[in-house]
Amino acid sequence: MSTVGFIGLGQMGSPMAANLIKGGHSLRVFDISETAVEKMVELGATAATSPADAALDVEFVITMLPNGALVKNALFGENGVTETLDKQALLIDMSTVHPFETDALIKEMSDKGFSMMEAPVGRTSDHAIKGELLILAGGTLQQITTAQPLFDCMGSETVDAGGPGKGIRVKIINNYMSIALNALSAEAATLSEAIGLNFDAALKVMSGTPAGKGHFTTTWPGKVLAGDLSPAFMLDLAHKDLGIALDLANQVNVPMPCGAASRELYSIARAAGRGRQDWTAVFEQLRVTSGLEAKVK
Ligand code: NAD
Repeated sequence: MSTVGFIGLGQMGSPMAANLIKGGHSLRVFDISETAVEKMVELGATAATSPADAALDVEFVITMLPNGALVKNALFGENGVTETLDKQALLIDMSTVHPFETDALIKEMSDKGFSMMEAPVGRTSDHAIKGELLILAGGTLQQITTAQPLFDCMGSETVDAGGPGKGIRVKIINNYMSIALNALSAEAATLSEAIGLNFDAALKVMSGTPAGKGHFTTTWPGKVLAGDLSPAFMLDLAHKDLGIALDLANQVNVPMPCGAASRELYSIARAAGRGRQDWTAVFEQLRVTSGLEAKVK
C-alpha cells in the first residue's frame, strides 16, 4: 500500500480520495476548504496544511483542481508541492486543464528533477463515488504501471493514451465532441417539439441511426476511414436535407447554430468538387482544409 498526498477534495477529488483510503492507501490531504479536509480526516486521512505539507514523505501526489493555473500554483507556488516532494515520488495531475499547460508543467517538473504524468478522468462524480471512472493515462509505461494500483481504486478502466501529454489531449477531444453533440442534440429535440413530433417516437428513430449512434462506428469505417468515397449517401443529398431542416427551423423560429455551421462545411466540400462523393467526405475535406495531408486519393 502506498502513501499519497491528495490536493483538491471537491466533487470529484473527495470520492476519489475516499476510494484510495478504502483501498488501503495512506493519504495526506489538502484543500482550501477546511470542511472538505475534515470529511476526509473522518475517513482516516491525515490533514495537511499546504500542498508542500501534503507532499511530505509520500510516494505519490495527486492534484484534482479546477484549472491549470491552480495546479501550477500548487506545484510551484509558495508552500508548493516541489518544496518537499521526494525526487523518487510520482506527481499525477488528474484535473482537466489545457494540454499546453500540461506540457509546460511536465517540462518544468522534469527540469527540476521530478517525475510527473497526467491522468484526467472521464465520466461523472457518480462514477467517482463508485470507483468507476475512466482514467485517461498520459505518461511513460513505467509511470502508468507504477500508478496503476491507485487508478484501480478510483476507476474501472485505464486507457494508455500513448505517452506524456496524450491523456489530456484525448480527454479534451472527447469532451469537445460530447459537449458539442449535447448542443446539436438540443437543436434536434427542440425542432422535433416545435414541428409537433412526439419526442419519444423521434428519439426512438434517432437512437437507431447515425444521428444517435454517432458516425465513428457506423458510417465512417466502411467509407472515409477505408479510403472509399464512392457514395453510399451522396454529399449533395446530405446538403439538401440539412437545408430543408434549417429552413423548417427558420419558419418555426428555432435557432439551429450547430446545424447552420455544419452546412458551411458541406458547402465547402461541394465547392471543392465533392458533391457526388459520400457524405463522410466532410472529414477528408476538413482535414485537407486544415492543412493535413490528403488521405483519400
Ligand atoms: P470542484 O470545484 O468540485 O472541486 C475543486 C476543489 O479544489 C474544491 O474542493 C476547492 O476547494 C479546491 N481548491 C480550489 N483551489 C484550491 C487550491 N488552491 N488549493 C487546494 N484546493 C483548492 O471541482 P470538481 O468537479 O471536483 O473537478 C475537479 C477537476 O476534475 C476539474 O479540473 C474538472 O474539470 C475535472 N472533472 C470534473 C468532472 C465532474 O463531473 N465534476 C468530471 C471529469 C473531470
